[in-house]
Amino acid sequence: MTHARYTIDCDVLPAFTAAYLRVGGDECAFIETHTALAVPKLLAALEARGRRPEDVRWIVVTHAHLDHAAGAGTLLGKCPNATLLAHPRAARHLVDPTKLVASATKVYGAARFAELYGAIDPIPEERVRALDDGATFELGGATLSVHHTAGHAKHHFIVFDPTLQTVYTGDTFGLVYPALQRGARFAIATTSPTDFDAAEARKSIDKVLSLGAKAACLTHFDEVRDLDEVGAQVRAWVDRSEAWLERAASSGETLEAMTKSIETSLREAIADDASRRGLALGEADWKLLATDIDLNAQGIAFSANKKRALTA
Ligand SMILES: [Zn+2]
Repeated sequence: MTHARYTIDCDVLPAFTAAYLRVGGDECAFIETHTALAVPKLLAALEARGRRPEDVRWIVVTHAHLDHAAGAGTLLGKCPNATLLAHPRAARHLVDPTKLVASATKVYGAARFAELYGAIDPIPEERVRALDDGATFELGGATLSVHHTAGHAKHHFIVFDPTLQTVYTGDTFGLVYPALQRGARFAIATTSPTDFDAAEARKSIDKVLSLGAKAACLTHFDEVRDLDEVGAQVRAWVDRSEAWLERAASSGETLEAMTKSIETSLREAIADDASRRGLALGEADWKLLATDIDLNAQGIAFSANKKRALTA
């Protein structure tokens, strides 16, 4: 049996968001879909390997965030024999994407939403399989397993592929943008709204490492093989984020003010950490990081606000 995987650049920006084509014998799977706008790229990757949409058995999404799963409905429409595999909490929202669309439209506005994500097609319930923690699925004689990993999102799982010694980590194992790997490794965490939980995030990083895979395939972006180093860096960002969360939760600041001060701390910490690694961040680098800095600050402030409400 031939077993292989290929990285597909979904090209929202170059080398920013990946999907993976996994081939096992006569069968294929996609891991991550990005948005409907990326579906032609996914289908082209299939064709480039001499495979047909009919060969796709599984479409797997690590979680329901739109840059991972918004294209799933459109892709399923093109792949008549495929079943969508998702975390039970994600599956619900993909079958009925009303909530996903509403919350993203609130953040971006309708016009920007359409530009970023295209349409989000609902998914027929009978074409979705929700996978519990530890569940497995077969691909061309290989057995892959999923492991629930909260911390970034409550609806997140990672996919372990022992045949290829690979773990597909979604957003659990941070962000490693190729443009920022100039000499030394530089990884950061993603703490975007609304589920950031530091203790769970650390457990999930440990889970990735405990699988013993040789390669981690990150959605943002591509394969890394120095898992211990990436894990240590992402964990350090989770720890820092937790400290900012605690500080914000015990401050008297409004949500808006908290977000602003966390963003300032985050920018300073990124500049420090990068320079410690010999990485001089230029204007283009800050532009590349702008969305993550914005979302990370929002996510930490959101969780701080939630914590404050719980302890009030
Ligand atoms: Zn995410």
